[in-house]
Amino acid sequence: MNLCDVKTIKHIMTVFDLKFRKEFGQNFLINRAVVEDIADNCADSVETSILEIGPGIGPLTTELAMRYEQVVALEIDHGLIPVLKYTLGEFTNVTVYNEDVMKADLDELLKPYFEKGKVSVCANLPYYITTPILMKLLECGLPFDYITIMIQSEVADRLCAKAGSSDYGAITAVLAYYGVAEKLFTVSAGNFMPAPKVNSTVVRIKLHKNKPYVPKDEKTLFRTIKGAFEQRRKTLPNALAASFGELSKDEITEAIVACGHKPDIRGERLGIEEFVALSDKLYECINKD
Ligand code: SAM
Repeated sequence: MNLCDVKTIKHIMTVFDLKFRKEFGQNFLINRAVVEDIADNCADSVETSILEIGPGIGPLTTELAMRYEQVVALEIDHGLIPVLKYTLGEFTNVTVYNEDVMKADLDELLKPYFEKGKVSVCANLPYYITTPILMKLLECGLPFDYITIMIQSEVADRLCAKAGSSDYGAITAVLAYYGVAEKLFTVSAGNFMPAPKVNSTVVRIKLHKNKPYVPKDEKTLFRTIKGAFEQRRKTLPNALAASFGELSKDEITEAIVACGHKPDIRGERLGIEEFVALSDKLYECINKD
């Protein structure tokens, strides 16, 4: 069964009496070559278990099941569960859960798979909730090998932006703390049904096994990054003064200068290494005596 074939998809939707649910970001892939490409590139060893978020009717799940040891798929839409039983019936290495990834206990769910070996994430993500899902995957602290996601091209540009560029933002710096992101390829809107208004890009994130830059305090690091970009047009001392109310502007300026920056620098110039160093100085300042 070719689950990327438009006629097949329409037939399945009719037989199971389903409609594409916009509120769940249901834009199904209709180009098998794209699905194969994603599956080929989302892990570097076949001895990997894959967490798939949002299998839909199962085109990517099928390709993942053929390539990797185990697939665990979380699908929020209960209407798709009987479809997945039908389309994935032949695979003994796939487990589907009717779950919202945002509510799922990933630690508990994936424990047996991490005990067996490597685990990576692969998903054609729903647009409406891309960033919260990505943040959950990063912040949960699970040692995924890779996180490979198809997302809106505009968001992909932000994730992979260089410091100092207009696309560079808080999410870029936070992501760089956890791993290294690269764009694999772009997929135009016509490869989906229904077609979204924008193009998509597949981004692969290789998570750091050992983070190269470790702050004294993670919370202060994230406060520093968030503060720097919340007031993007302001210079860094002014931007940070708004979010570090317990420090004076002079103390913040001193910390910035002590890190080797000019006092009128803007946050968007700082890479993750520099944010970590600055957050350490601010942390010392907050906790002195
Ligand atoms: N993987 C399929 C494909 O490529 O054709 C479907 C991708 S579609 C863009 C996104 C899928 O994620 C849909 O099946 C949708 O129901 C599911 N989904 C949306 N929100 C979800 C959530 N919070 N947790 C789990 N699945 C979700």
